[in-house]
Amino acid sequence: MIPSEIIKQKRNGNEISHAQIKNFINDYLSGEIPEYQMSALLMAIFFNGMTDSEISALVDVMLNSGERMDFRHHSNYVADKHSTGGVGDKVSIILGPLLAAAGIAIPMLSGRSLGHTGGTLDKLETIPGFKVDINLDDFRKQVDSIGIAMIGQTKEICPADRRMYALRDVTGTVESIPLISGSIMSKKIAEGIRGLVLDVKTGNGAFMKNIDDAHKLGDSLARIGKSFNITTDVVYTSMDQPLGKTAGLWCEVQESIDGLKGNGPDDTMQVTFELGAKLLIQAELSKTKPEAIALQKELISNGKAYKKFIEMVEYQGGNPQDIDNYNKLHQPSNNNELRAEKSGYVQSMDAYKIGLSTIELGCGRKKTTDSVDPTAGIQFDKKIGDMVNKGDTLLRFFNSDSTKLIAAENLLKDCIQLGNNKVNHQLIID
Ligand code: URA
Repeated sequence: MIPSEIIKQKRNGNEISHAQIKNFINDYLSGEIPEYQMSALLMAIFFNGMTDSEISALVDVMLNSGERMDFRHHSNYVADKHSTGGVGDKVSIILGPLLAAAGIAIPMLSGRSLGHTGGTLDKLETIPGFKVDINLDDFRKQVDSIGIAMIGQTKEICPADRRMYALRDVTGTVESIPLISGSIMSKKIAEGIRGLVLDVKTGNGAFMKNIDDAHKLGDSLARIGKSFNITTDVVYTSMDQPLGKTAGLWCEVQESIDGLKGNGPDDTMQVTFELGAKLLIQAELSKTKPEAIALQKELISNGKAYKKFIEMVEYQGGNPQDIDNYNKLHQPSNNNELRAEKSGYVQSMDAYKIGLSTIELGCGRKKTTDSVDPTAGIQFDKKIGDMVNKGDTLLRFFNSDSTKLIAAENLLKDCIQLGNNKVNHQLIID
């Protein structure tokens, strides 16, 4: 195989075969194919897309680059949730323990920050001692014993996604239906789950900017799920503004703890309950959506969801006392705020630019070797539809590197538009 010939074939808009995809990815993983050739192929896929049979081959090769888990011995319904990527989206950190407390087994493989969007793994790793790279045996044992584990792609599970995901992050090749489909579904199938709910985001802060593209992505993901006998539900939600009160690293863990304790922001909890309801109905633990929502609220108010989170943190190397004292940890050394220059209502927010400014602050990576700053993030004091007086704080941003704080400030300056109309924001899209 000559790698540049496969790149050219895809660049010219022609189909590449299962064998070609397999050889290319396997040679990349063994080091035979360098990063620059994989980057070129990713860019060719980005521009020319993939046919259904190419996408199936991609999922198959990525899935078989590592091991596949088997939870058929588990007496509980084994399922997971995944988002296509957003800003301030901390739903996995709340929903995983919440559903585990309800009796669904959750073997969750998550990703790091990708493009302008945040990653569950980077957020979880801000919990001191919390390990996201535990081996497969321990992962399996943890799910068997406490009903949940949240880890990243290790060398054993989906190594192809781990490498390609990191490369896409820094080569401008994220917003591609086939690449997102391959990345998400290879991880989810490898988990050995029976059920899945997907949060497909759409809007200025999502990879799919409009609902038509979001539907194409949702259909592609659901088709793959079906072909692997995974009961798959798709929920479409707006990413025209960040989700919740914060976007960043530790601040999102703090907000998740608030959510698990019953003090989460309405929008974050609405998405959490909507997705949770799908899996509770799939698992036959609830018959209707209102019943499923009531069950989730009860598991939060009786403390069981929070307790499950603490159990998971402890199992994965964290200290429950750090979670109890969550407001004292990771204090940023710098902070600044953006104030309203006039009175009015918030008309719109540029969630994409806000996501980029979280990278500038230190929540994401500009190159694969960059490290992240756990103290970095943004707090939103106003969201779409809120009334604002001149001089009010719109958002606060913070980190522990003053140069990066200034870079973020430049981006954040015009990311919130004010006007005279009280606009409504639709969060869950039917
Ligand atoms: N989430 C993933 O795991 N992969 C993507 O490509 C996008 C979102």
